[in-house]
Amino acid sequence: MKVFVAGGAGYIGSICVEELLNAGHEVTVFDNLSEGHRVAVDERAQFIDGCLSERQTTLDAVSSCGAEAVMHFAAFAQVGESMADPSKYFRNNVANGINLLDAAVEADVKKFVFSSTAATYGMPDAVPITELEPQKPINPYGESKLMFETILNWYHELHRLEFVAFRYFNAAGCSERLGEERRVETHLIPNVLRVALGQKEECRIFGTDYPTPDGTCIRDYIHIIDLAQAHMLALAPGKCGFYNLGNGEGYSVLEVIETCRQVTGQPIPAVQEPRRPGDPARLIACSQKAIDDLGWKPRYATLEQIVDSAWRWHSAHPNGYTG
Ligand code: UDP
Repeated sequence: MKVFVAGGAGYIGSICVEELLNAGHEVTVFDNLSEGHRVAVDERAQFIDGCLSERQTTLDAVSSCGAEAVMHFAAFAQVGESMADPSKYFRNNVANGINLLDAAVEADVKKFVFSSTAATYGMPDAVPITELEPQKPINPYGESKLMFETILNWYHELHRLEFVAFRYFNAAGCSERLGEERRVETHLIPNVLRVALGQKEECRIFGTDYPTPDGTCIRDYIHIIDLAQAHMLALAPGKCGFYNLGNGEGYSVLEVIETCRQVTGQPIPAVQEPRRPGDPARLIACSQKAIDDLGWKPRYATLEQIVDSAWRWHSAHPNGYTG
């Protein structure tokens, strides 16, 4: 298919683009490079330097490339920043996203695939979390994604736009060539690996008094390539709706750090710090719906495989793309 990928220069978008191209799709990447990296865009893709805030540019870009499907990764995704600057999140993640939706309707695309998040669930009452769990976001980031989910539902009902929205749990790991480099890195695994690389003295454990067996938060880590595979399955005609994407296994912060020590062979000192505001104790996905409806089969489901792929990329690119 001809696939238009907004945000295809970022961490998740760039690796999805690589997988789409490997599967024989034709890809146009649209990205303003505010967070993404030009060198992360696969050479086989067409690249447009554009911003979703520019409505006409967005409409023209989607129609001129003859897109049959649109994938939307172009959003801000830092919880803490969203608490400090909610306007930035609602403007970009909601208002600018509507320009892309309108472009998809105008160009008569067959499928819209959206990156949503487990942050739409807020502090869940129960784990594993199914898609039926009430959505009660606790920060503007999660709220902005939930608002876009609601808008997608209306576009489906009123414009017959077929969509798949994936609620990602903790995307992690790298491909052989492409990895994870953000201007501000808040995520656990890349921060722990920086210590292994000798770029930081110690990693930080945010909170050791959670109601979990070792007192640290539990998350469900999913390999970026498994995530990308789900996006391709979403392209099949008739697939429509909301899907969790995770492995159904939870790992604590201490378990992640220990796995990083084993994979890297480095001691990785860690210090205990207070809780980070807004962190739920435990987020674990039930992804049975994606498995049953889409035929999704995660291939790199263990934490060792995920950390190993991340370590291979980070040790080969100690200064990221900019180095
Ligand atoms: N975390 C931590 N130290 C760090 C970064 C994250 O202890 O340097 C914790 C964080 O509080 C959370 C878990 O690791 O409990 C996963 O955080 P991350 O930012 O990777 O993803 P999130 O679950 O917030 O999307």
